This record gives sequence, C-alpha cells and structure tokens, in this order.
Amino acid sequence: MTFLYREQQLYSENVPVEKIASQVGTPLYLYSAGAIRRRFGEYASHFNSEGSLVCYAVKANSNQAVLRLLAALGAGADVVSEGELKRALAAGIPADRIVFSGVGKTVPEMTFALERDILQFNVESEPELEQLNRIALSMGKQAPIAFRINPDIDARTHRKITTGKSENKFGVPASRASEIYAWAASLPGIRIQGIDMHIGSQLTESEPFEQAFHCLRDLTHLLREQGHEITVLDIGGGLGISYEDGAPEPPSLAEYASLAREILAPLGCRVIVEPGRSVVGEAGLLISRVIYVKQGEKRRFLIIDAGMNDLLRPSLYDAHHEIMPVRAGNGETCLYDVVGPICETGDTFALNKALPLLESGDLLAIKNAGAYGAVMASFYNTHPLVPEVLVDDCEFRVIRARLEAEQIIAFDSDF
Ligand SMILES: *Cc1c(COP(=O)(O)O)cnc(C)c1O
Repeated sequence: MTFLYREQQLYSENVPVEKIASQVGTPLYLYSAGAIRRRFGEYASHFNSEGSLVCYAVKANSNQAVLRLLAALGAGADVVSEGELKRALAAGIPADRIVFSGVGKTVPEMTFALERDILQFNVESEPELEQLNRIALSMGKQAPIAFRINPDIDARTHRKITTGKSENKFGVPASRASEIYAWAASLPGIRIQGIDMHIGSQLTESEPFEQAFHCLRDLTHLLREQGHEITVLDIGGGLGISYEDGAPEPPSLAEYASLAREILAPLGCRVIVEPGRSVVGEAGLLISRVIYVKQGEKRRFLIIDAGMNDLLRPSLYDAHHEIMPVRAGNGETCLYDVVGPICETGDTFALNKALPLLESGDLLAIKNAGAYGAVMASFYNTHPLVPEVLVDDCEFRVIRARLEAEQIIAFDSDF
C-alpha cells in the first residue's frame, strides 16, 4: 500500500514521511509515484478497446513530474487553458492525445492549439464555435470538434462542482444539439467528430453517469440519422474518491467502466475518458507540523503550519479530509479542531477530530490531497508557496521548490 505505518512511523512507499519533512520543511505536498502509476494503469486496462484514450485532466494536479510520469504510461491530456496545453506538451504528451475543454477559450489559445494540431476542441457555446471557425479558416485548417452537451442531470455532488445542470455555465443543452450540429456542419473551418459530456466532479453514485451515457447514446443515434459522422465520444471525468472514513463508497472504476462499455460500445466510437481526481487524489498527502496546541474556552485547537492557502478544498467546498498523525500514538486520543495560521475563520481542516495527544513540532498528514490541492495553492498572507515532493520506492525528490517570501515580494514592482 501507499501510505502505511511501520513501527509506528508513517511511510510513503519506502521512505519515512518524517525524513522528507525534516529535509524539505513543512508544509509540503507528498505524492506516491507508485500509486499514480497503479491507478492510471487501472484506467488504461479498463478503457482498452480500439482507440480508447485516457486523457488525464491536467487541472487536478499539473506538476510537470506528475505529467511526465503519466506521459510515460501513454496518457493523453484534457486541458482547460493554453498554460495547461503547454504543460502537457512539455511533459511529452503528444498533441494528438490532447483535448481542449473550457468555456472561455481565447483567440490566442485557439490559435496555439490549432498550430499544434490537437486531437479535439470540446466546444461549449455558439460564439466559441464561430470564433474557432474563423481562426481555423485564417490558418487554412479545419478544427476537429465535439460539442459539450449539458444533459441537465443532477450529479448529486457539491453544488460548486456540479457542471451538468441547465443552470450551470457549461455546454449546450441536448435539446438544441440537432440545430447546433447542423450549423457546425455548414462551417468550412470546422470538422465535427464527436460529442462530449462532463457532468461534474466527485460523483459518488453511478446513476448520474448511467443517465449521461444514455443521453450520449441517444444523441449519437439522432445525429447520425441527421447525417453527421460521430466517431468520438468523450465521457468526461468525475468519478469520486472516498474522502471520509465510513462515508458511502463511490462506484469502483470497474463498475464505472463496465457501465460505459455496456451502453456505448455498440456505437463503435472511440471513447475518451477524462479522469483527474480519481487518478491522483488518493496518491497525495499534505504534510504539516503542529505550531501550537491552544486550549480555548470550549475547544482545543491544533494550530498547524498548513492553511487554506495550501489546501483550499475544505474552505471552498466544505470538503472533508481525513487527518492522521505521522507518528502513530499509543491509542490514547484527544479531540481537536485542526486549523491553519491564516487570518480567516474558514481556515479550518477539521472540527472535533480525534487524534493522539500531540504537541508543538509533531507532524500530521492530511489525506487524499493529490487532486485539487497544490494546483489551487496561493501565497495568501504571504506564506511561502507550498513545495511538492514525489516519492518513488526508496527515493524522493522535490518536484516544485518552495517559493520563499523574498521571491514572492520580488514579483511586485514599485509604481
Ligand atoms: C475537471 C474536469 C475533469 C476531471 O474531473 P475529475 O472530477 O477530477 O475527474 C474532466 N473533464 C472536464 C471537462 C473537467 O472540467
């Protein structure tokens, strides 16, 4: 397993976490290369039919070392900006394995992606299609597209990460697909190749996926009847992971993949899947040190050196992350509110969390922090930008150095 105790000490693969923390300093993100490889390998083996492609959603964790590791396994990429596209290319992911999603692609972004001949633009609106057509024509090219269809399905996830309801900004309604595809077919700079759907993130039930796949299937039939060549079905990402001990388990990857296969395989399309969280989420820890144990009037606070600037998910989405001590206790526990140093009440990781008796200087591991962690980190309150470390078997390496206060200050310039 990835993170286990040996003689009371938490290990990441074959390296004691304490060793990394003392060499690199805290807070720090820690990823297991083995866990990422294993999880990606599972995706690749489940989506292994003719031409199917696992396009890792770069926004979940975009560190170059992580992308390089996935590139070596044959991953494609789902990117949402020119910056992410540049990251994917720099990591060695070929352009013909990259899809470009997002509601706000700009002219320079489209131009750059067309120059590189990416696999597919997932188009989210009519004005975007019009713009893409214009740019492609001016370059003497045809842009390969899928429309992102918003199926108006409730993904039953947190409201801030649901994307497939009609009130969300993403995609175009299924009811307008005929009209929009007919228009797209008339544009000489556009080549229709498929349909795209992504209904949300951290889904913990299979039913919304099932509904989405049915919608994709029905639309494929409809659009083919209308004369469109539909050869690619992009089913998005969104499979959840288990953040909370005892909470309902999300569908397994095997279940999810067999659902997709059952409903979509008869269509004979190339299936693209865009997982992010479920590839890297469980492979990462945020390691932090206790600064103070503060006894309040009613509660005992564990003030740690990681804050909402390092891991935003709890304050942004009320997300739960399990916390474990780096040195296992003797069974005796105490209840703590685990909070960061940032001057915001929202800077809270856990309330009434049972942990062994801890003191200043002790280390904690915040679990399942490999996705949407470091990528959202900031230097709010001018804390140094958190570093990232990759562990592979017995070795570890800093894959993003800590950005120190002096460097952050130097970004600013006088008027
Ligand atoms: C964020 C995103 C994904 C990945 O979602 P996960 O929940 O991390 O799997 C896939 N596709 C699109 C279009 C996205 O925006």
